[in-house]
Amino acid sequence: MIVTRFAPSPTGLLHVGNARTALVAWLFARHAGGRFLLRVDDTDTERSEEAYIAAIRRDLAWLGLDWDAEVRQSDRMPAYDAAIDRLKAAGRLYPCYETPDELALKRRSQLQQNRPPIYDRAALAMTEADRARFEAEGRRPHWRFLLAHAPIAWEDLVRGPVRFEGRDLSDPVIVREDGRPLYHICSVVDDIALAITHVVRGEDHVANTAAHIQMTEALGAAPPAFVHLPLLADAAGKGLSKRLGSLTLESLREAAGLEPMAVVSLLARLGTADPVVPQTRLAPLVECFDIERFGRATPKFDPDELKRLNPQVLHHLDFADIAGRLPGLGLPDVDPGFWEAVRPNLTVFADLADWWRVAKGPVAPQIADADFAAAAADALPSEPWDEETWSRWVETVKARTGLKGKALFRPLRLALTGRESGPELKVLLPLIGRDRARARLLGESA
Ligand code: GLU
Repeated sequence: MIVTRFAPSPTGLLHVGNARTALVAWLFARHAGGRFLLRVDDTDTERSEEAYIAAIRRDLAWLGLDWDAEVRQSDRMPAYDAAIDRLKAAGRLYPCYETPDELALKRRSQLQQNRPPIYDRAALAMTEADRARFEAEGRRPHWRFLLAHAPIAWEDLVRGPVRFEGRDLSDPVIVREDGRPLYHICSVVDDIALAITHVVRGEDHVANTAAHIQMTEALGAAPPAFVHLPLLADAAGKGLSKRLGSLTLESLREAAGLEPMAVVSLLARLGTADPVVPQTRLAPLVECFDIERFGRATPKFDPDELKRLNPQVLHHLDFADIAGRLPGLGLPDVDPGFWEAVRPNLTVFADLADWWRVAKGPVAPQIADADFAAAAADALPSEPWDEETWSRWVETVKARTGLKGKALFRPLRLALTGRESGPELKVLLPLIGRDRARARLLGESA
């Protein structure tokens, strides 16, 4: 059974980069008929916020990604403490007393000497007397995991064979001065406990993975498989970090008004050689998902591509897909006929409200030839109206005015809708109704 997880830290809003990681982990599990878990990495109590946890759930649900279980790291402290005790007993954790300033100083001097800024393990040389002195000064230790200086290798499903030497890495800090566990140990303990088979995450975690593999083994478990996705870049190939504010899922939804399936359609294909196809359902993406399609080159994320995809997705949505969103737009009366008529004219879903206003008014008509418009008004048939009304009426107007083609249709559209273009008038006309149509043809806003 394949089990993947998405493990956001609730310290901010999810952005397209996070969404891509979540989507790939989700598709991976769903394609295999496996499980997908949401793990909330909320051990950083200073920066984690309940509101962000709610936002994460909302954003995933908006994308259509469901999860089989949710785990919060803040609920799992006893498990982390037990693992820490076990690693201490095995001699794999050692106390360190350096202050952040001292560590920064070490790093600077290493860099000045063109040496990699790897922790020098000075703490291992501490005597009992040194330790007693630090404790007497009121210092409390943080704890590092003692990496074995041996090769660490794995076959990454996206990066291929990856190899690190233990001696090229800093021993990771896994317990803070105040005794609280840090990301590395929590993540490893949870991946073991939740029986995660494939860890899907960003390539910024590749070096962490090397340490995690040794930690997993030190806890008596077999490491999972790893999938490190390259981070997204902008069109110029630069990291997205500066633009992420406008690329949160919340802003794509609320400010840009984009369709979740436009976002999904793009993110499911970024970094693969496969074409981006507008999808209205996740199912086809689940079916054809193949992690082998994902490459290790940095994918370029272009927000304009989302904008181009959005109408294509909208134009394929059925009334049933959007019916639930109509009350939120203040349009409970929209029916399938109106949706189908207006759909090809939508750039974003909210445009629907504009077209509804064109039907129900008020619309400021545009009239160049008042006599023509008045003649057209006189030719309006009596109600009830349906989709045949338009052609019957137009025939009459044509016969009475002698106009045809564009010269006939354009002034009628401008008078009835105030706009040059829009949905088919045969659908709009019955919704406008006789009173409003007449008033507009006579130049009144209605
Ligand atoms: N909370 C970590 C992050 O957001 C999780 C990384 C992981 O998947 O292990 O980067």
